[in-house]
Amino acid sequence: MTDLRTLSAAAADLVVGMRCAGCGLPGLQLCQTCRQALRPRARSCWPDPCPPELLTPTPVPPWCAAAYAGVVRAVLLEYKERGRDGLAEPLAGLLVAALRGLFATEASPGGWTLVPMASRRATVRSRGYDGVLLLSRIAARRLRGSGHDVLVTRSLRHRRRVADQAGLNATQRRENLDGALRSVVGRWSRRRAVVVVDDVVTTGATAAAAVSALRDSGAPVVGAAVLAATPRRPGRVSLSAAGEVDTTYRNAPRRVTVQNM
Ligand SMILES: [Zn+2]
Repeated sequence: MTDLRTLSAAAADLVVGMRCAGCGLPGLQLCQTCRQALRPRARSCWPDPCPPELLTPTPVPPWCAAAYAGVVRAVLLEYKERGRDGLAEPLAGLLVAALRGLFATEASPGGWTLVPMASRRATVRSRGYDGVLLLSRIAARRLRGSGHDVLVTRSLRHRRRVADQAGLNATQRRENLDGALRSVVGRWSRRRAVVVVDDVVTTGATAAAAVSALRDSGAPVVGAAVLAATPRRPGRVSLSAAGEVDTTYRNAPRRVTVQNM
């Protein structure tokens, strides 16, 4: 006798072509195992070498909630590259956790302003949504629900065309973004701490460019939050049977402390 679940999964696949974004199993948007793999673990994730913009004049600690590998990477790519905006809700849990980690260690006198990284216009056009903006809005809504004063301000814009950072090395990434961003908000409240939001941190070049542009416009930037950080050595990331990624950032600059929460 045919397993009813297998049958309904096959039917779902036939009707809507739904496959798990993490493992490709037909049936659900995210299977139970992959959903588990998205369980957040907030920690600061300093790139090494760290772009100077993130260290001076005051440190801008980047926080993440996962390693960019395995299921997390697969789901994020489906969300970013394949237009699966339904994954925004489950993915936003990672951003919420990273932001909670940051909020617990940084002080703000009057709430928080999240500034999503500017998306390339062509990307938004082809996907039909701005991935980082959507995640920021969902995270802000959830954090407001638990008593945090959080707003989202779309302040960053590209001054000129930039290439996709993926596939560029550290130097090329910096060059690609050098002077490429500007903030369209010129007046910032001193009471609201500003946090740069992006999906992934790799070399920190994107966060550094965003922090520079925001500081140029007078924004009191105190941190950055991303869903996941690219491990320095992908071979060292261990993926347990349960799909849980375990990685540690041992290469953080000495002068700043790595927080684990
Ligand atoms: Zn799965």
